[in-house]
Amino acid sequence: MTVGILGGGQLARMIALAGIPLGQEFVVLDPSAEAGAVRLSHLLQGAYDDPALLKKMAQQAAVVTYEFENVPATAAKYLTEHTTIYPPAKALQIAQDRLVEKQHFQSLGIQTAPFAAVDNLDGLKQAMPSIGYPAILKSRCMGYDGKGQVAIKSAEELTDAWHKMQDAPSIVEGFIPFQREVSIIAVRRVNGDTVFYPLSENTHKGGILRIARCISNDPLQTAAENTVLKLMESLDYVGTIALELFDVDGQLIANEFAPRVHNSGHWSIEGSETSQFENHLRAILDLPLGTTQSVGFSAMVNFIGNVPPEASVLAIPHVHLQLYDKSPRKGRKVAHATVRCDDEQRFNDALTTLHELATQFDDS
Ligand code: AMP
Repeated sequence: MTVGILGGGQLARMIALAGIPLGQEFVVLDPSAEAGAVRLSHLLQGAYDDPALLKKMAQQAAVVTYEFENVPATAAKYLTEHTTIYPPAKALQIAQDRLVEKQHFQSLGIQTAPFAAVDNLDGLKQAMPSIGYPAILKSRCMGYDGKGQVAIKSAEELTDAWHKMQDAPSIVEGFIPFQREVSIIAVRRVNGDTVFYPLSENTHKGGILRIARCISNDPLQTAAENTVLKLMESLDYVGTIALELFDVDGQLIANEFAPRVHNSGHWSIEGSETSQFENHLRAILDLPLGTTQSVGFSAMVNFIGNVPPEASVLAIPHVHLQLYDKSPRKGRKVAHATVRCDDEQRFNDALTTLHELATQFDDS
């Protein structure tokens, strides 16, 4: 069967790497002929909303998925009408707008940071008494990796903060003094079967994910599973989803969700019996889902801007390297490596060494 993917970057590449052994073929739509998944798929090169390319994709692919949430609404509509697109367009529509997303969480009784819609400086000033300081102003659409965000510490910073947003429709959120950031990755099959991965504990720097660590038997696992299940059911969800949460004194507060495979689940390639990529395909192809049981200890470290020399990465015991076939560029995720080991001490030692190496070559 042929699976279509909107976007041909590293997520599409890892989906294809998981699908080829299952006999799948891939067609990707991407503006760039250099995209990382191109070597593993047939490329339709052009804009995501190009009607002729979308028509070809609908003709070639039995099911279409995507690797990023900013899929144009026209493309999602066309593909919904002319083939099958998973996760469903409703999930995209909600994930594309931080305000709609937060309101959706609220409607499900899922706790969020206090938030308010902001369309101009006056609106921001009016919202602040109920939001409180410190706060974060975020553009409603197109933000990722901390882009389109401004921290506000006091009333004096409001005017500057608003100008930095360049009049983009925004939301202002109260700053959550979290102890940990975690994410739960779950997968729901066409027939409703659902599996959950162990929680991932995530470390960010400069708004970019640096380390994602698989936590087996986390005390908040069940609470996170219940939350993401509610979310998936509300969206008639099919595929892999990632829900990012703040842990504040053992209470989970939802930040955002990604209707796709997610960077915080890359450790599952080596650290789980079935990776998030393989399970995403199984889910959208209506095949039985694989067990998500963790295999020993695992954690992933991102390489930002540069990849250290391959030999230095591979010299670290228990490390697996995943290159994305992307040229080095400041702030760009170009590769990751996962440490996986049955022995906790050796795992921790390897993770420390890997993180030091990533930091040494970091260009963010
Ligand atoms: P986001 O683009 O919403 O995922 O935000 C990027 C990062 O900024 C998050 O991973 C957090 O580290 C931080 N952040 C975002 N929103 C908040 C908040 N309301 N309170 C505290 N930290 C936040």
